[in-house]
Amino acid sequence: MEPRRKLIESLIEEYPDLPFEVLYKEDLLRTGVAFSEDALRVASGFQPKAYFIFSFDLVPISAMPNRENFRVPEEICLSGGKNKFRRVIVSVRVNPVSPYQVTLSRDGRLILVLNEDEVCEVVFPKVPDYYGAELSSGKPITDIAPVIEWGYLLYLTVFRLCQYFGRQEECQFCDINENYRQQKKSGRVYSGVKSVEEILEALEIVSESDSISKAYTITGGSITSDIQGKNEIEFYSQYPRAIEERFPGRWISKLGVQALPKADVRRFKESGVQIYHPNYEVWDPALFEIFCAGKNRYVGRDEWIARVLQAADVFGPSYVIPNFVAGIEMSKPHGFGTCQEAVDSTAEGISFFMSHGIVPRFTTWCPEPLSALGSSNSEGAPLEYHVGLLRAWRNLLESFQLSPPPGYGEPGIGKAVFSVSSFMDVVG
Ligand code: SF4
Repeated sequence: MEPRRKLIESLIEEYPDLPFEVLYKEDLLRTGVAFSEDALRVASGFQPKAYFIFSFDLVPISAMPNRENFRVPEEICLSGGKNKFRRVIVSVRVNPVSPYQVTLSRDGRLILVLNEDEVCEVVFPKVPDYYGAELSSGKPITDIAPVIEWGYLLYLTVFRLCQYFGRQEECQFCDINENYRQQKKSGRVYSGVKSVEEILEALEIVSESDSISKAYTITGGSITSDIQGKNEIEFYSQYPRAIEERFPGRWISKLGVQALPKADVRRFKESGVQIYHPNYEVWDPALFEIFCAGKNRYVGRDEWIARVLQAADVFGPSYVIPNFVAGIEMSKPHGFGTCQEAVDSTAEGISFFMSHGIVPRFTTWCPEPLSALGSSNSEGAPLEYHVGLLRAWRNLLESFQLSPPPGYGEPGIGKAVFSVSSFMDVVG
């Protein structure tokens, strides 16, 4: 058996308490996936990747020989095959030299292969009915209101840039500014700032034909000065306020912005936000300082933590969900040298938040080459780390007697739709 497969098989055997499918999911997320020309041709009839915020690719667009950036599907569903996969949804992260490839089998099935050995069958996402629509401005709806998580979550990145700018301030794992530049250069219609009117017009179109989406996220880069004369709170709160006025209670409303003082967080709540994501990114104090230099300078780690806890007073603890970028704590050259140290460190943070009733979640780190960390790390954290982290998160959730976070659909293998980490696949 070739080494990669052997490693996965041995981890599956060692940890039978995890659904075996998530090992492939995590490996795909940390490694990326290639597509054969046949698979790309098939993908043309399915939901295309919309680049909803970051690139989430293992190569820049300039290193995609087959224009994959315009041709790959948003997500893939792993299912069936000789290993009898239960349904698992995986976000597509392009890597033309990945050992994983989606291709057509000799008998015409869409399959995932690992070094040419079949892993399972693959299903591409259906194109949502509204995806061909254009706004009155001529902008495609996929620019303004793309959907992810197999149709569950409308992802409204209303500001595609970040005012933490340059290597001294941008979070080192983040390629938001560089991705914006490369998307514009590639010819994609990619609005830097979306107006409230555009968002409402797009959601009007969505609401006419769609019954699958259940939530929306308003998010974007940090605002340290202002945009269009509005500060961060004024800018971001105008969207949920307008959406909830026009479509009261139609979707679960989420907001992903910095950890802000309690009075400002209250304004978000008053504007209609139900779930708040003051993303924490990495727990270790020294790594937070290095990887989140802008946040560290403007807010500071201790204050960030204090604000996350204060937000729980406003929204209720289960409605405050900070994100960790799972794996950056193992990046070179500053990260931990062993999986155990990295898992222990992050588990300490998870435990801290859970002891306050707050359930953090993850995005599996994608070392995007246009980010600072991606330029010095060609692949993500080891698979063993992700296995350890998922087990630690699940065990802590159980020991604190907490439920999986709201706003992610049904938990459990075969049911979960969250596509950039497996945390929802391992519970329920
Ligand atoms: S705050 Fe950090 S993670 Fe968020 S958009 Fe800015 S650079 Fe990226």
